[in-house]
Amino acid sequence: MYQANWKRAVIKVGSSLIAPNNNQCSQEYLGPIAEFISTSRKQGKQVILVSSGSVAAGRGKIRHKHRPSITEKQAMAAIGQTQMMANWAGLFDFDCAQMLLTSDDLHNRSRYVNIKNTLRELLKNHALPIVNENDTVAINELKVGDNDNLAAYTALVAEADTLIICSDINGLYDADPRYNTNAQLIPEVATIDSRIYQLAGGAGSDMGTGGMQTKIQAAQKCVDSGIQTLIVNGRDKNVFTELAKGRSPGTLFIPNKSLDNARDNWLRHTLKAKGSIEIDQGAQQALLQHGASLLPSGIIKVSGQFSSGEAVNITYNNTAIAKGIVLYGATDLAAIKGLNSQNIEASLGYFLGEVAIHRDDLVLL
Ligand code: GLU
Repeated sequence: MYQANWKRAVIKVGSSLIAPNNNQCSQEYLGPIAEFISTSRKQGKQVILVSSGSVAAGRGKIRHKHRPSITEKQAMAAIGQTQMMANWAGLFDFDCAQMLLTSDDLHNRSRYVNIKNTLRELLKNHALPIVNENDTVAINELKVGDNDNLAAYTALVAEADTLIICSDINGLYDADPRYNTNAQLIPEVATIDSRIYQLAGGAGSDMGTGGMQTKIQAAQKCVDSGIQTLIVNGRDKNVFTELAKGRSPGTLFIPNKSLDNARDNWLRHTLKAKGSIEIDQGAQQALLQHGASLLPSGIIKVSGQFSSGEAVNITYNNTAIAKGIVLYGATDLAAIKGLNSQNIEASLGYFLGEVAIHRDDLVLL
């Protein structure tokens, strides 16, 4: 069942909604989506937008033959990206924040940590992050390639609990609705197997690079990490009233584990601890009793070699009580251990943040 009480959603909007005529941005379909985002935020929910449309929006600005080259598309994206951002910004009375990412960025540990920290800071400040692929720098192997998978990666790095893919089709059908009038919409998918991929067929009508295949790939990445995923028709404004009423109007992919379990398992079992941090009694109480972040002031000793973004064991009386992902590397943590957070910058000459380990990056053992 669709969990309407989600806390953090990534909403992916495809090119066919942003630039339906494939040559410039339009607000034709964006009003109901923007209203859904604004209403959700007013309810205290957090939203991250993954928006396509930069290539389509800039298409008319770059001279090209029938099929544009990669370089021509990159130039289109560079022009179209600012228009796409302005198009969204015109629909909101809060700040929109542009984030351009590549696959390379998401697979590089320190860049991944920076993306995660920036997202966290933007959400804390009530801005709306708007993510797209950085088309200027990304070709072929550097690219995620389609914004469906980019949206899934964004949901993972943002630790979202929901991904909503807005397309120009109602969801996944049991046959191709373009050729088969009896095709039925599949309201819920509990397991993504080869049959589901077969139903997804080839690329769809979307003007972006994705079709139903990439949507299923995105859904699979998310449900495996406890993130519910919906494919809905973003052209139909009733879809957003339905969502607001707590109903799933398209195809819902049900997560195969709970989000907390997925995150905890990943931290606990998949990430290898590269060192350990011994903490004092005050910090131990703050962690165990108040679910607090670990501050440098509570650290007594740092052991092992690790960099920012790697995992360490947190020990008290030399017994591991928690595991977490550090904001600072071993050398820097050793330099700031025992210090008040306001003295971090004076000690290191830079300041990443006041915590050694953020509570969202920590699991108690
Ligand atoms: N990054 C491309 C754009 O903004 C979109 C890729 C896609 O839609 O899958 O035009």
